[in-house]
Amino acid sequence: MTDSRTDSSDAEVQNALNPNPDALDEHDPNVARDPVCGMLVDKRTANDTLAAPVNEKGIGMLYFCSANCKALFEANPAQYGFSSL
Ligand SMILES: [Zn+2]
Repeated sequence: MTDSRTDSSDAEVQNALNPNPDALDEHDPNVARDPVCGMLVDKRTANDTLAAPVNEKGIGMLYFCSANCKALFEANPAQYGFSSL
């Protein structure tokens, strides 16, 4: 029987093609939190990133779920706890 093996590899392929944000673990070092909407972002597949000055939180790079969140952040970083870019 190969049913269970097929299921597992299908799930892996689907995960790679369309990662489900709900499945991300915020304690995973490859996962960051979008400072705008609070969504978890996979650093390895994030398209919208921003080099941020290291601040009191020790964050050197910001990851956004979308270009829209990145634009919101750039327009008003103070609203999200960053004094400047
Ligand atoms: Zn977002």
